[in-house]
Amino acid sequence: RPRILSGMQPTHDSLHLGNYLGAQVNWVAMQADFEAFFCVVDLHALTGGQVSPEDLRRRTRITAAQYIAGGIDPETSTVFVQSHVPEHAQLAWILNCITGFGEASRMTQFKDKSVRGGGDSANVGLFTYPMLMAADILLYDTAAVPVGEDQRQHLELTRNLAQRFNARFGETFVVPEAHIPAGTAKIMSLVEPTSKMSKSAENQNGSLWMLDEPKANVKKLKSAVTDTDNEVRFDPEAKPGIANLLRIHAALSGESVEALVEQYAGENRYGALKGDVATLVTELQRPFKTHVDELLADPAELDAVLRKGADRAREVASVVLERAYDAVGFLPRA
Ligand code: ATP
Ligand code: MG
Repeated sequence: RPRILSGMQPTHDSLHLGNYLGAQVNWVAMQADFEAFFCVVDLHALTGGQVSPEDLRRRTRITAAQYIAGGIDPETSTVFVQSHVPEHAQLAWILNCITGFGEASRMTQFKDKSVRGGGDSANVGLFTYPMLMAADILLYDTAAVPVGEDQRQHLELTRNLAQRFNARFGETFVVPEAHIPAGTAKIMSLVEPTSKMSKSAENQNGSLWMLDEPKANVKKLKSAVTDTDNEVRFDPEAKPGIANLLRIHAALSGESVEALVEQYAGENRYGALKGDVATLVTELQRPFKTHVDELLADPAELDAVLRKGADRAREVASVVLERAYDAVGFLPRA
């Protein structure tokens, strides 16, 4: 079976609805047809600035539990923690050394995230993040990478690096394809519907946390920023807030956006739309949270899953890393 790999950063105590709809739904759909690797990317989580060791440890387990609660079967897919597989950092070094400084400087996520903290507060890890992400992917001979729209540019860089390496040192890496969903690739913030929902956003009210109390999310949805025009239409440019709610509704209810626009036609229907989205989100959340709580109640069991996952991941990653080491001319240890 061809392979897929994807991951989330343990940068929050909960995933948000964008992580779920933009990435995880595809992970679950694809795990039957692909050999799947799902990684909690804890090395990446250090790039956002200071995080306490306790927070990082707790969030790493919570993130893994959410993979499973969201439908990943750890019996058939490999669920693991990035730092348990040292090959990720090792390959990242090589990829850093074939990436141009200007090329890395053009990554929009680096630009966005580094200005957020006031410019100079960004660390060098944030700058080299895309090459670590390329290593994550290339280590598994990955054919497809299910991610949200914000990762498209990083995927393009990964493809370029794989092709460049292969051209320079001989066929070594599989060139992966991005797998980005159609309607849900960029779920927007509820308070600022022109920016994506994010774990690390300054205004936490913009995100619908999968593990929040349902009533907190209902409240956020009721006060979601829309517009004053009072007409439900799908127009992401002029009406980004309403377009976002329609997309969320369509993804969770299985109805088409067109059908929903008809259903909510007429004056003052924003309240009805928000209320129905709130119900759908609550229905998604309740069993998800219950399952996460069950998994976290037995951390030893969860850690055993992660251990088994790391063993399987290393089997694959060590072989690919050796191929790359050999290709660049590192002398094998006698
Ligand atoms: P951070 O702010 O810490 O970067 P994040 O919300 O961007 O957090 P990540 O862990 O970086 O989440 O990304 C995990 C996955 O979720 C990626 O595949 C990413 O493309 C996807 N994703 C993130 N935000 C959204 C969103 N708003 N809509 C759809 N997909 C998203
Ligand atoms: Mg992100």
